[in-house]
Amino acid sequence: MTIKEIQENLKTITSRMEEACRQANRDPKEVRLLLATKTVPAENVQIAVDEGYHLLGENKIMEGLHKYNQLKSNMCEWHIIGHVQTNKVKHILKYADVVQSVDRMKLVRKLHNRCNFDDRDIDIFIQVNTSYEESKFGVAPEKALEFIKQVSEFPRLHIKGLMTIGILSSKDDKVRDCFKLLKEIQQKAMELNLPNASFDELSMGMSNDLELAILEGSTMIRVGTAIFGERPYPDSYYWNEN
Ligand SMILES: *Cc1c(COP(=O)(O)O)cnc(C)c1O
Repeated sequence: MTIKEIQENLKTITSRMEEACRQANRDPKEVRLLLATKTVPAENVQIAVDEGYHLLGENKIMEGLHKYNQLKSNMCEWHIIGHVQTNKVKHILKYADVVQSVDRMKLVRKLHNRCNFDDRDIDIFIQVNTSYEESKFGVAPEKALEFIKQVSEFPRLHIKGLMTIGILSSKDDKVRDCFKLLKEIQQKAMELNLPNASFDELSMGMSNDLELAILEGSTMIRVGTAIFGERPYPDSYYWNEN
């Protein structure tokens, strides 16, 4: 990828976002672009950062930490968007601002313990498996509210919203159903009036389905391929335990 290509791609994504917002009757300021930077070398991420894009998402904790140390900017906001192995939790707090992929109690407890140890709090999203695909992480939709209630009892973890990966399908309806479901869970979660939790953020939509996600209320799209090009590994490498 050349500098020019990455700059062009960022422009294209921005106009796709704006067009989708127009169709959805939404203010483009309501939707933020998170750069999904897995496998992308720090030099290429730097190009996007220099263009003014400061919201970064990494899947692998150590890969993210490495890039964090390489990037020449302290203006970035770092999100963890991939499956977290609990033995990596201590490294998360070295650089991450938000963990979007919170999906099980073991991780919640470890993250909270580590926050206690470091004497700090952290923002989190709850990842929901709206596609019901076994290959995807995330709490099952029908268990999400119960899980959210449990998580809200950990005072150092501040729930800011929900995250999902839409189903990989050429049928728009099926993809939209995933995003609709996340929105429904958001509404119900808001009605719980939990302490220590707001549900403003809906992190949904990627290179191929960001328009559908914006139509369904996304506040944060996570885009990798359409900005940085194809990745050397299939996504299953990042989305599965093995
Ligand atoms: C890789 C990844 C993305 C970006 O996907 P693209 O199709 O490359 O835009 C978004 N979210 C998560 C959780 C990812 O792992």
